[in-house]
Amino acid sequence: MAGNDCLFCKIGAREIPADVIHETDDLLAFRDINPQAPTHALIIPKRHVASINELRAEDAEIVGKLFLAAKEIARDEGFSEPGYRVVMNCNAAAGQTVFHIHLHLLGGRDLRWPPG
Ligand code: AMP
Ligand code: ZN
Repeated sequence: MAGNDCLFCKIGAREIPADVIHETDDLLAFRDINPQAPTHALIIPKRHVASINELRAEDAEIVGKLFLAAKEIARDEGFSEPGYRVVMNCNAAAGQTVFHIHLHLLGGRDLRWPPG
Protein backbone atom coordinates (compact mmCIF):
# COMPACT_ATOMS: atom_id res chain seq x y z
CA MET A 1 0.00 0.00 0.00
CA ALA A 2 1.46 3.36 -1.00
CA GLY A 3 0.48 6.75 -2.35
CA ASN A 4 -3.27 6.98 -2.79
CA ASP A 5 -4.12 4.25 -0.30
CA CYS A 6 -1.82 5.14 2.56
CA LEU A 7 -3.00 7.44 5.37
CA PHE A 8 0.49 8.57 6.34
CA CYS A 9 1.52 9.20 2.71
CA LYS A 10 -1.49 11.55 2.53
CA ILE A 11 -0.53 13.28 5.78
CA GLY A 12 3.08 13.52 4.57
CA ALA A 13 1.90 15.14 1.34
CA ARG A 14 -0.31 17.52 3.39
CA GLU A 15 -3.37 16.18 1.57
CA ILE A 16 -5.20 15.45 4.81
CA PRO A 17 -4.84 17.50 7.96
CA ALA A 18 -2.68 16.72 10.95
CA ASP A 19 -1.33 18.71 13.89
CA VAL A 20 2.13 19.17 12.35
CA ILE A 21 4.95 20.16 14.70
CA HIS A 22 8.06 19.67 12.53
CA GLU A 23 8.72 19.37 8.80
CA THR A 24 11.69 19.05 6.46
CA ASP A 25 11.93 18.12 2.77
CA ASP A 26 11.85 14.42 3.55
CA LEU A 27 10.08 13.96 6.90
CA LEU A 28 7.07 15.19 8.84
CA ALA A 29 6.16 15.06 12.54
CA PHE A 30 2.62 15.46 13.85
CA ARG A 31 0.72 14.81 17.07
CA ASP A 32 -0.89 11.39 17.52
CA ILE A 33 -4.71 11.52 17.50
CA ASN A 34 -4.81 9.12 20.46
CA PRO A 35 -1.97 10.38 22.65
CA GLN A 36 -0.45 8.05 25.23
CA ALA A 37 1.59 10.78 26.95
CA PRO A 38 1.38 14.58 27.32
CA THR A 39 3.47 14.73 24.13
CA HIS A 40 2.93 11.89 21.67
CA ALA A 41 4.28 12.67 18.22
CA LEU A 42 4.71 10.51 15.14
CA ILE A 43 7.69 11.16 12.89
CA ILE A 44 7.42 9.78 9.36
CA PRO A 45 9.46 9.77 6.18
CA LYS A 46 7.47 11.35 3.36
CA ARG A 47 8.50 8.43 1.16
CA HIS A 48 6.44 5.31 1.73
CA VAL A 49 8.07 2.41 3.59
CA ALA A 50 5.55 -0.08 4.98
CA SER A 51 7.51 -1.39 7.96
CA ILE A 52 11.02 -1.88 9.29
CA ASN A 53 11.04 -5.15 7.34
CA GLU A 54 10.88 -3.19 4.07
CA LEU A 55 13.77 -0.83 4.89
CA ARG A 56 16.60 -0.81 2.33
CA ALA A 57 20.23 0.15 2.76
CA GLU A 58 19.54 3.48 1.03
CA ASP A 59 16.98 4.32 3.73
CA ALA A 60 19.68 4.53 6.40
CA GLU A 61 19.93 8.31 6.15
CA ILE A 62 16.21 8.97 6.56
CA VAL A 63 15.99 6.57 9.51
CA GLY A 64 18.77 8.54 11.19
CA LYS A 65 16.90 11.76 10.44
CA LEU A 66 13.79 10.42 12.20
CA PHE A 67 15.84 10.11 15.41
CA LEU A 68 17.44 13.53 14.99
CA ALA A 69 13.95 15.03 14.57
CA ALA A 70 12.85 13.24 17.77
CA LYS A 71 15.76 14.84 19.61
CA GLU A 72 14.81 18.29 18.34
CA ILE A 73 11.12 17.89 19.20
CA ALA A 74 12.01 16.64 22.69
CA ARG A 75 14.08 19.78 23.18
CA ASP A 76 11.28 22.00 21.83
CA GLU A 77 8.72 20.31 24.10
CA GLY A 78 11.01 20.72 27.11
CA PHE A 79 11.65 17.12 28.19
CA SER A 80 15.14 16.41 26.86
CA GLU A 81 16.62 16.15 30.34
CA PRO A 82 13.93 14.23 32.27
CA GLY A 83 13.82 11.90 29.27
CA TYR A 84 11.47 10.39 26.78
CA ARG A 85 10.90 7.30 24.66
CA VAL A 86 11.06 6.62 20.93
CA VAL A 87 9.61 3.40 19.57
CA MET A 88 8.76 1.92 16.20
CA ASN A 89 6.39 -1.03 16.10
CA CYS A 90 6.87 -3.66 13.39
CA ASN A 91 3.96 -5.82 12.26
CA ALA A 92 1.09 -7.36 14.17
CA ALA A 93 2.81 -8.82 17.22
CA ALA A 94 4.17 -5.38 18.10
CA GLY A 95 0.83 -3.68 17.47
CA GLN A 96 1.64 -1.88 14.20
CA THR A 97 -1.66 -0.61 12.78
CA VAL A 98 -0.51 1.92 10.16
CA PHE A 99 1.78 0.36 7.57
CA HIS A 100 3.93 3.39 6.82
CA ILE A 101 6.85 3.54 9.21
CA HIS A 102 6.56 6.06 12.02
CA LEU A 103 8.71 6.76 15.02
CA HIS A 104 6.61 7.35 18.14
CA LEU A 105 7.98 10.04 20.46
CA LEU A 106 6.48 9.92 23.96
CA GLY A 107 7.37 12.41 26.65
CA GLY A 108 6.09 14.62 29.43
CA ARG A 109 5.50 11.89 32.01
CA ASP A 110 7.38 8.99 33.61
CA LEU A 111 7.18 5.90 31.40
CA ARG A 112 7.18 2.33 32.67
CA TRP A 113 9.43 -0.44 31.39
CA PRO A 114 8.93 -3.02 30.00
CA PRO A 115 5.99 -1.96 27.82
CA GLY A 116 3.04 -4.33 27.57
P1 AMP B 1 1.15 1.92 15.36
O1 AMP B 1 0.18 1.16 16.23
O2 AMP B 1 2.57 1.85 15.84
O3 AMP B 1 1.00 1.55 13.90
O4 AMP B 1 0.76 3.45 15.53
C1 AMP B 1 -0.19 4.08 14.75
C2 AMP B 1 -0.52 5.37 15.45
O5 AMP B 1 -1.12 6.26 14.52
C3 AMP B 1 -1.50 5.23 16.62
O6 AMP B 1 -0.88 5.71 17.81
C4 AMP B 1 -2.70 6.07 16.18
O7 AMP B 1 -3.31 6.74 17.28
C5 AMP B 1 -2.06 7.03 15.20
N1 AMP B 1 -2.93 7.59 14.18
C6 AMP B 1 -3.78 6.93 13.38
N2 AMP B 1 -4.39 7.77 12.52
C7 AMP B 1 -3.89 9.00 12.79
C8 AMP B 1 -4.11 10.31 12.25
N3 AMP B 1 -4.99 10.52 11.25
N4 AMP B 1 -3.44 11.35 12.79
C9 AMP B 1 -2.59 11.16 13.81
N5 AMP B 1 -2.31 9.95 14.36
C10 AMP B 1 -2.96 8.90 13.85
ZN1 ZN C 1 2.67 5.55 3.01
